Amino acid sequence: MKRDIRLAVLLLTVISLTVAMATAWELWAARERTLAKAYTHNLNLTQALDTYVEGIITQSSMLLLGLAERLETDGTTPAQLERLRHLAQRQQSLLNQLDGIVIYDANGNWLMVSNGNVPAGATSADRSFFIHHRDNPSTDAYIGEPIRSRSSGKWVITVSRRYNHPDGRFAGVISATLGVENFLQLFGKIDIGQHGAIGVTTSNGQVLVRYPFRQADMGRVLSRSPIFTGYLDHAMVGTASFNSSLDGIERIYAFRKNERYPLVTAVALGKDEALASWRADAVRTVAIAVGLLLVIVIIGILMILAIQRRIRTEGLLVAAREELLKANHQLEVLASRDPLTGLQNRRSFDDRLTAELRRAYREQSPLSLLLIDVDYFKRFNDTYGHPAGDDCLRNIGQLLADSVRRPGDLAARYGGEELAVILPNTDNAGAQAVAEQFLQHLWQSNLTHVGSPFGRVTASIGIATLPAGSDAPAAALIGTADQALYRAKGAGRNRLDNASSLSGSAP
Ligand code: GH3
Ligand code: MG
Ligand code: MG
Repeated sequence: MKRDIRLAVLLLTVISLTVAMATAWELWAARERTLAKAYTHNLNLTQALDTYVEGIITQSSMLLLGLAERLETDGTTPAQLERLRHLAQRQQSLLNQLDGIVIYDANGNWLMVSNGNVPAGATSADRSFFIHHRDNPSTDAYIGEPIRSRSSGKWVITVSRRYNHPDGRFAGVISATLGVENFLQLFGKIDIGQHGAIGVTTSNGQVLVRYPFRQADMGRVLSRSPIFTGYLDHAMVGTASFNSSLDGIERIYAFRKNERYPLVTAVALGKDEALASWRADAVRTVAIAVGLLLVIVIIGILMILAIQRRIRTEGLLVAAREELLKANHQLEVLASRDPLTGLQNRRSFDDRLTAELRRAYREQSPLSLLLIDVDYFKRFNDTYGHPAGDDCLRNIGQLLADSVRRPGDLAARYGGEELAVILPNTDNAGAQAVAEQFLQHLWQSNLTHVGSPFGRVTASIGIATLPAGSDAPAAALIGTADQALYRAKGAGRNRLDNASSLSGSAP
């Protein structure tokens, strides 16, 4: 029963743990799936944006290539410059992102600007892109840091290249300026949530464009960002997740290095935002799991209470059964006992005599019977009254019980003032000894009986013995003892008669 409770508790624990673990596993797996989807989404976005940025840079450098070619062959005469200005204006209208085209001489002075007239004394000798071309013989396109345009005041990125004199000497620079605003307009149309960001940087981490736009970010070098301090060393494309050093918000990043230009495009989403839908699902799942666990626990507790109730009830039943057995035993004792003397009653005597006779025959042992009748008892009653007679019988019963001590012996009240003793496994001599001892005790008790010639209560005893190996019915044994008793009476009472031993019939 205690084991049942332990099993129930074990079962409950296993089920609860299983539910909890399955839920936790499902939550974790769903979270991973959500993040994986977000990473994929970011990667796709970087691919598209990278292609877009590359296209613009390529178009710009093709344009610069054409213009540089003309400058190198036709020179920088005012007429030539005017022609180039017209050409640049026409090309500019075909490329929205293009803010303007400027031609510089070998000293950085502006020779031509596509958007109008050259401001007096305008120079870009100090701009890093100019210095780069002046000091570097390469005619490749160069993507410069974002600068504020001196003509419009807007943030622009310059794509520039050098043009040479026919002898290869540095003749000047030609630059296309791309408005950062134009990039921001496109990036702004992409849904990246509240904490998301899109950025295009040079491959050493200098910010060219960042959406959402922040003045402070322009030209910043993100050299401390994990993307530039580790990830990009090993891969052209990748994903990462870390806390922003700027605002502490954890974001998931996807980044891609351009294959042609030293550019990196990165898309970031706030991790919390990316996981928002998962979180809503998780709350529902947890609520359901907790509800389920509660139901399991309640059912389990009810089950354990029921088992405990059963244990208690069974305990009560066992106690009740023991009580009943005890009561039954007492009843049996009462039913077999004579209420006046406390000796066995007649029914018990009859049952026992039959059983002992059978056993004596089976075990080839002798069996003796004493029939005892109180002498002159009628007179005792007459003299002292019936209640005194009862007391006397009680005393005699006690005396007899004391004289019959062997466990197998049985002393009974045969009827009225007649008593009987069954002595199993006792021969005639043994029976006579028991009878003599009883008579002696009774005599010594000296129970006054003025109506008796002995002056005290006496009894007469008839003895019958069934020798070992003989078989006889109970009635025969009783009859023999009765005849002996009759003879003892006739011979003067206060004595025993042992003259006739039951011959019995051999089997
Ligand atoms: P004897 O046996 O010596 O021949 O004389 P007796 O007076 O005993 O004669 P008998 O055996 O015929 O009488 C039995 C008397 O025992 C009858 C009755 O008054 C008395 N007696 C029998 N049973 C009880 C009993 O339960 N209580 C009392 N007080 N007396 C009883
Ligand atoms: Mg009698
Ligand atoms: Mg008598």
